[in-house]
Amino acid sequence: MTATAGIDSELDYRRRLRDALSGITPAAVAEWERVGHLPRRVLADLAAADVFRGRWAPGAQVGIPMVVAMAEESAEICSGLALAAMGHSEIFIGGLHWLGTTEWHRTLLDDALAGRAIGCFGSTEPQGGSDLAGIRTTATRTPEGWHLRGRKRYVSNLGAATHVVAVARVEGSQARDLALFVVPLDHAGVRVHGFFEATGVRACDVGEVSFDEVLLPPEALLGTEGMGLAYASRLLQFERLSICAQLLTAVRQSIGLTAAHARRRLVGGVPLLDKQVVRHRLATATARLGVADAALRDVVARGTAKLPFAHQVAALKLVVGELASEVTDGCLQLFGARGYTGNFPLERWWRDVRLARIGGGADEVLTEAVASRLRLPDARFDAALDRYEAADIAR
Ligand SMILES: Cc1cc2nc3c(=O)[nH]c(=O)nc-3n(C[C@H](O)[C@H](O)[C@H](O)COP(=O)(O)OP(=O)(O)OC[C@H]3O[C@@H](n4cnc5c(N)ncnc54)[C@H](O)[C@@H]3O)c2cc1C
Repeated sequence: MTATAGIDSELDYRRRLRDALSGITPAAVAEWERVGHLPRRVLADLAAADVFRGRWAPGAQVGIPMVVAMAEESAEICSGLALAAMGHSEIFIGGLHWLGTTEWHRTLLDDALAGRAIGCFGSTEPQGGSDLAGIRTTATRTPEGWHLRGRKRYVSNLGAATHVVAVARVEGSQARDLALFVVPLDHAGVRVHGFFEATGVRACDVGEVSFDEVLLPPEALLGTEGMGLAYASRLLQFERLSICAQLLTAVRQSIGLTAAHARRRLVGGVPLLDKQVVRHRLATATARLGVADAALRDVVARGTAKLPFAHQVAALKLVVGELASEVTDGCLQLFGARGYTGNFPLERWWRDVRLARIGGGADEVLTEAVASRLRLPDARFDAALDRYEAADIAR
């Protein structure tokens, strides 16, 4: 399906995004964080400014510079907004855009692009999130459509969403034969149980929802049953790209503010930045940011050229997640007690970036994904090793 809108240059898109975000005040963000929910109208306002149409108009992969722009610009303002916008755009709109085939899907896609419908993603369950083969939510085919039963936990932006894209196992199939279903949250049998108090990204709520004998029309199934794992993996690569851009924004903000502090703060009568250990710590962080930023642009270039990028983005998220944790921690340290208080944003950036090492593929899961490549034969190095081993004799 297509998202009809003019195709912006990345620069124009950023300008439009900044305009759309310019009305959001720090006081509004502080209030969202205090109550732990993002008002639905915030994403609706971005939609009204064609932020989602602009991302999807060039297509899934060609539009990924807009994914990065959306992540960077919204994360500058509020990490919770960035997380909610990412789920709505990359999973909900992404799923409908790619897999929608019917009039029902087309109407829902249009509602999502216009902000009348807001989507979130439900994969994780109380018994676990990393092991998708262990998913217990079950979909049973009926003459009228589908019968859904189960429970999803840690669903981001559940409070503001109208729909959830739920991962389910089709009854009678193999454990890994999953399917994606679009479920309206006001549908009979769907119940939002409540929300969890989270360490960071507090403006975006994270909740639990159950499906109790939910009867869905046939169109609720996205794509083909049994393909849910492959679909979720593809959609998650866009989410991971967005997460990398969000994290690097927090790193950039942390280094910038800490360098300003180190130039101004006097310790023993000299600026903190005159201490070599401080200067080198900030310089190392700056160098690591530059390398990670270049790697992000490289993944974007691969994606835009319609080359596969799932493996590269998994590896990048692994590295950038650790980098963001370390750099925000180091910057908080250089701010001393102020960094630990809510009067400065260091403690918020430090808390916020921690999520990325768990959500969107935990570090250990991504490490396994990278490690899986090590088992593949490599003609060049296998042949080189043959040569070294053949010449390995005492002389
Ligand atoms: C704030 C927040 C927002 C979230 N938003 C969403 C959302 O919108 N939608 C959604 O579906 N989920 C969401 N999640 C859930 C998140 O995706 C899961 O927490 C994550 O997938 C890990 O699942 P788990 O917490 O059940 O941990 P488990 O799967 O129980 O894993 C526990 C630990 O074991 C490790 N582990 C797992 N497998 C292996 C392995 N093979 N080898 C070594 N170690 C392993 C994990 O990395 C982790 O460290 C969110 C979580 C949080 C905290």
